[in-house]
Amino acid sequence: MFDYLIVGAGFAGSILAERLAAVENKKVLLLDKRNHIGGNAYDHYDNDGILIHKYGPHIFHTNSKEVFEHLSRFTEWRHYQHKVLADLDGQQVPIPINLTTINTLYNLDLSSTELDGFFASKGENVPQVRTSEDVVVKAVGRDLYNKFFKGYTQKQWDLDPSELDASVTARVPTRVNKDDRYFTDTYQSMPLHGYTRMFEKMLSHPNIKVMLNTDYHEIVESIPFTKMIFTGPVDEYFDYCYGKLPYRSINFKFETLDMAKFQNTGTINYPNDYQFTRITEFKYLTGQKHHKTSLVYEFPTAKGDPYYPIPRPENAELYKKYKSLADASDTHFVGRLATYKYYNMDQVVAQALHTFKKIQAETADKPEADEFIA
Ligand SMILES: Cc1cc2nc3c(=O)[nH]c(=O)nc-3n(C[C@H](O)[C@H](O)[C@H](O)COP(=O)(O)OP(=O)(O)OC[C@H]3O[C@@H](n4cnc5c(N)ncnc54)[C@H](O)[C@@H]3O)c2cc1C
Repeated sequence: MFDYLIVGAGFAGSILAERLAAVENKKVLLLDKRNHIGGNAYDHYDNDGILIHKYGPHIFHTNSKEVFEHLSRFTEWRHYQHKVLADLDGQQVPIPINLTTINTLYNLDLSSTELDGFFASKGENVPQVRTSEDVVVKAVGRDLYNKFFKGYTQKQWDLDPSELDASVTARVPTRVNKDDRYFTDTYQSMPLHGYTRMFEKMLSHPNIKVMLNTDYHEIVESIPFTKMIFTGPVDEYFDYCYGKLPYRSINFKFETLDMAKFQNTGTINYPNDYQFTRITEFKYLTGQKHHKTSLVYEFPTAKGDPYYPIPRPENAELYKKYKSLADASDTHFVGRLATYKYYNMDQVVAQALHTFKKIQAETADKPEADEFIA
């Protein structure tokens, strides 16, 4: 008899499995329908021995000391600050847009103070900001909007920014200095030996049994357990009773080249050319030394694994209906698919740790069955 059946061995499921096993001494069955642990953060060595991320580049960054310290129990780190260039009009310029970006694109020699004025002079007057387009055009003007955002958004979402919620681009990150780091979080590091090794360590507790290649429907009636934690798609759990929650997916094309280095930074975005959105070269992320190099191209698509919840008001409404069912259920719903939110890894870790505290509080409140007998 298991105390917990946890569906999904990604960050949400694995963090909870470890906490319940190690702190609460619970017996946990953790299962995943895929043939590996780690969920979308899974990494592995390709045929040439280069460490790659099967579900696209995953860069760890967080401002949460608690999250960073928690994961540090299971891995050492390699300090890494990700940098991204946008390939535009035959040039490669830093993104988020910074002083170098503007001076290079427009052949100017502005100072930081002048750049503030430049943005202000380009920004359009938008009385009511409703869409993603409004947000960007108001902040940096139409030319930068067309160069950086319009085409990229169209490829990524198959929607024009004018059809997307303002919340998708709530803030346009621009910098008036030359800071060319993609993220500015306090903690920016990659697991020294990769994500999968970190998950292996997390799940090595004797109270945790891992079962792969198993959809939970196959065993839910036959394996006894007391409580379920579900980290798969919430609409699937409720048999799509209100219809399917829409997602955008990605086809990943991997390539290994017989050269030590292909591009000038970890990721290069292609906002306006080609069908793919970006190319990532893994060795920048992992720090691996190898005479060959492996890349991934990302082609957004409507069909495939559910990756990005589509941020439109009608989808948020549909999710609310599922959330009411989830709130009334005995099962805990945790993670990106179960809460229909585009969360980064650190946010999922934080959500899982929070759920663990909630479970602890609930069980502390509830007397054990035999306390009633006395
Ligand atoms: C292309 C891409 C790039 C990303 N890059 C970054 C990044 O750079 N930095 C960052 O912080 N975050 C990034 N993320 C987000 C990151 O992947 C997620 O935050 C994280 O993986 C979510 O963990 P999770 O446990 O909620 O979900 P998942 O990792 O998706 O795990 C859920 C698991 O449940 C399993 N499952 C589902 N249904 C069933 C079922 N019926 N039976 C059994 N098992 C089931 C699935 O197989 C899956 O393994 C990226 C995401 C994508 C798509």
